[in-house]
Amino acid sequence: MTQNDTLFGKILRREIPATIVYEDDEVLGFKDIAPQAPVHVLFIPKHVLIPTMDDLLPEQAALVGKLVLAAAEYARREGFAQEGYRVVINCREHAGQTVFHLHLHLLAGAPLGHFGVPGR
Ligand code: AMP
Repeated sequence: MTQNDTLFGKILRREIPATIVYEDDEVLGFKDIAPQAPVHVLFIPKHVLIPTMDDLLPEQAALVGKLVLAAAEYARREGFAQEGYRVVINCREHAGQTVFHLHLHLLAGAPLGHFGVPGR
């Protein structure tokens, strides 16, 4: 595993606690500590530190697919795929990114409303 000093690196190394709800060879999924919906799970790559979506390389396309597929599998397994869900990747300042270890948010469990700039 690539060592790194982000909060999510510490979760990966089990140095700080998290509620882990999904794991496969390349992806870890855990509950967001400040959930924005009844279901709010973060999916992160386990073996490579990619700070932002803007840092992704073409050869990492399959890894992005694994994050998306992990979220879809979790939604099916937990039984809310039919009702629907939202996935979000925040990139840098305007999106409010706070942890610079690429992660996909999975939000579900209730109608999620609109998204974007508040008031638009
Ligand atoms: P972002 O704003 O896209 O960078 O998302 C970072 C997310 O990490 C936020 O939704 C935080 O609530 C979440 N978060 C921060 N610390 C922890 C933690 N220790 N365990 C789980 N989620 C966390």
